[in-house]
Amino acid sequence: DSPIQRKPEWIRVKAPGGREYAGTESVVREHGLHTVCEEAGCPNIGECWTHRHATMMILGDTCTRACAFCNVKTGLPGPLDLAEPARVAEAVARLGLKHVVVTSVDRDDLPDGGAKHFADTITAIRVASAGTTVEVLTPDFRGKAGAIEVVMAARPDVFNHNLETVPRLYLSIRPGARYFHSLRLLERAKELAPDGFTKSGLMVGLGETREEIMQVMDDMRSAGVDFLTIGQYLQPTRKHAALDRFWSPEEFKGLEATARAKGFQMVSATPLTRSSYHADADFSQLKAA
Ligand code: SF4
Ligand code: SF4
Repeated sequence: DSPIQRKPEWIRVKAPGGREYAGTESVVREHGLHTVCEEAGCPNIGECWTHRHATMMILGDTCTRACAFCNVKTGLPGPLDLAEPARVAEAVARLGLKHVVVTSVDRDDLPDGGAKHFADTITAIRVASAGTTVEVLTPDFRGKAGAIEVVMAARPDVFNHNLETVPRLYLSIRPGARYFHSLRLLERAKELAPDGFTKSGLMVGLGETREEIMQVMDDMRSAGVDFLTIGQYLQPTRKHAALDRFWSPEEFKGLEATARAKGFQMVSATPLTRSSYHADADFSQLKAA
């Protein structure tokens, strides 16, 4: 594929490859797992997989939604794979992860949106590797009564749900979602587990303004969100939402400083930040602090 837009010189990534990378890849393949690293075409895969940091994607590889920024396959998913939580847990143990991020496609076709499968995966990881902290990055469970309660009852260390963009752009960028529903989900997660951490993230480069981002940060803080990630949107293919602009590294530094001033405990705001980028290191640092 020809590049859609020339990337600025500050967006440079490590090419995939090498012994450690291959080791991660073989654990993923042997356990028949999907990762968002691969399915979403994440630019950081060369770096993350070299450090054995893979983000597991459960509930299959086919999403019932079609967000305009996302490269994950869309369609009617197959039946739920009930052995998946155990395989994820085995892979996490094999990789020796101190912290793991588990995410999923959206499963609007399932009565609970996949909430129990998330809970089963958290529990299986706890059994197979007791010392591993677990972060879940979930769908919005819109229209699925009781789903967030099921996930939080399994006590994830971090509950993550991305707001992704500013409310004005929801209809074009996240058409299946509603801004205030997603915000309420984060607030509810905090109510259900006040001792756990909540986390959310945004992409920039879709046409949002700095003022709109400030408002989203305030909304997140009102909902009790602890951690924030902000990264640059990169258009995966010509069919996806067009890039408005690249935010400069200085602008990212400004966003980070503002977010810290607003009281987020952990902030990652760089062009290549993704929801799960360096999540292991960030979380260990926080626990050590
Ligand atoms: Fe995977 Fe997250 Fe790293 Fe991307 S940033 S390669 S999704 S772990
Ligand atoms: Fe991608 Fe998630 Fe949207 Fe599905 S719901 S298209 S996986 S961002």
